[in-house]
Amino acid sequence: MSILDVKNLQVSYGGIQAVKGIDFHINKGELVTLIGANGAGKTTTLKTLVGMVKIAGGSINFDGKDTTSIATHDFVRNGLVMVPEGRGVFAKLTVEENLQMGGYYRNDRDGIARDIAHVYELFPRLKERYKQLAGTLSGGEQQMVAMGRAIISKPKLLLLDEPSMGLAPLIVEKIFEIIQMVAAEGVTMLLVEQNAKLALQVSQRGYVMESGKISMSGPAKELLDDERVRNAYLGG
Ligand code: ATP
Repeated sequence: MSILDVKNLQVSYGGIQAVKGIDFHINKGELVTLIGANGAGKTTTLKTLVGMVKIAGGSINFDGKDTTSIATHDFVRNGLVMVPEGRGVFAKLTVEENLQMGGYYRNDRDGIARDIAHVYELFPRLKERYKQLAGTLSGGEQQMVAMGRAIISKPKLLLLDEPSMGLAPLIVEKIFEIIQMVAAEGVTMLLVEQNAKLALQVSQRGYVMESGKISMSGPAKELLDDERVRNAYLGG
């Protein structure tokens, strides 16, 4: 059962076509990755899914609805949540306040409190720093806050844009461990990554994007073994 169905998606910036008619889908419960070089159109694709960029053609069906008719501010309420590149935490709010923002559209106070406690279990480092202003956290800690906040919003589909960007290797490992734990809890995710090896290792399926097109797709294991993928994205 797919939760997201994208058909012939096209996006242009001015006269330049950044996404040139791509098809992909995500099934409920899956962790899928979209890999590709700089400028391939990955971020643009994610932005169209949450209405931040207008589509020039094609269709996006999420959870049985055409998302092009959803107002931007209603995406989270509908269960489609993105953790953007550069994290997007509220710098002037504390860690705890940021996490509480994740529960903005929920009415179950007890449930929110339980989920915040759960995020602190996933990220003990955030628990230690719950009163600290998010803007003063390290890059890795901000990534944890952004992911924690997204988890608390109980998404039907979580979009992660380059979660490993700019982080030290040990922190990247930690972030990927968490991604796997969140996936194991049943959260459906689309992961955009330049760290193709790690991304494919944790995902069930993958898509490779090149110059605005999907050039390859399949089970992540097969892509990891594919010679073209190995040469282009995994360092041979
Ligand atoms: P990266 O991994 O470097 O973030 P990406 O695969 O996510 O790359 P996009 O950010 O989607 O790629 O960019 C795709 C193309 O669209 C690039 O050529 C980029 O320069 C162009 N582009 C992206 N945003 C805009 C914009 N707001 N205005 C004009 N061109 C844009």
